[in-house]
Amino acid sequence: MEHLWAPWRVEYIQQEKPAGCILCDKPVEDNDARNYLLYRGENNFIMLNSFPYNTGHLMVAPYRHVASLEELTDAELHEHFEIVRLSIKVIRQVYHPDGFNVGINMGKVAGAGIDDHIHTHIVPRWQGDTNFMPVMADIKIVNEALAETYQRLKEQF
Ligand SMILES: [Zn+2]
Repeated sequence: MEHLWAPWRVEYIQQEKPAGCILCDKPVEDNDARNYLLYRGENNFIMLNSFPYNTGHLMVAPYRHVASLEELTDAELHEHFEIVRLSIKVIRQVYHPDGFNVGINMGKVAGAGIDDHIHTHIVPRWQGDTNFMPVMADIKIVNEALAETYQRLKEQF
């Protein structure tokens, strides 16, 4: 896989990681718009990635704090991938990407940023996006862009 150029991720890599688990904490905060929580299923939810590799980068996660796929119950697993499918549908409608990277990083060694709470990344891809130099290298502009992405996707979910 070719790497996307996402300089705002430097802040994520350099910042001190908050105590606790954001995938556990955000859903109980009851502040979905501020936390970019897009959709709540029975066992899983969808959140916008605040340090996206591309516009529309989503994460699907179970509410339960488990580290690995085989720890999910059948119901959790089934709904997890139903929601992954729903996410792809919605992103397609809103952003018309040419393709997707859909994947799970299990364990730090595999590149997981949050390695003790499983989540599936959904990253829309466009032809030529790896050599596109985004003008949005400024983190403030990225945050504005996130709010807009949230609004556009939220309407479709
Ligand atoms: Zn957690």
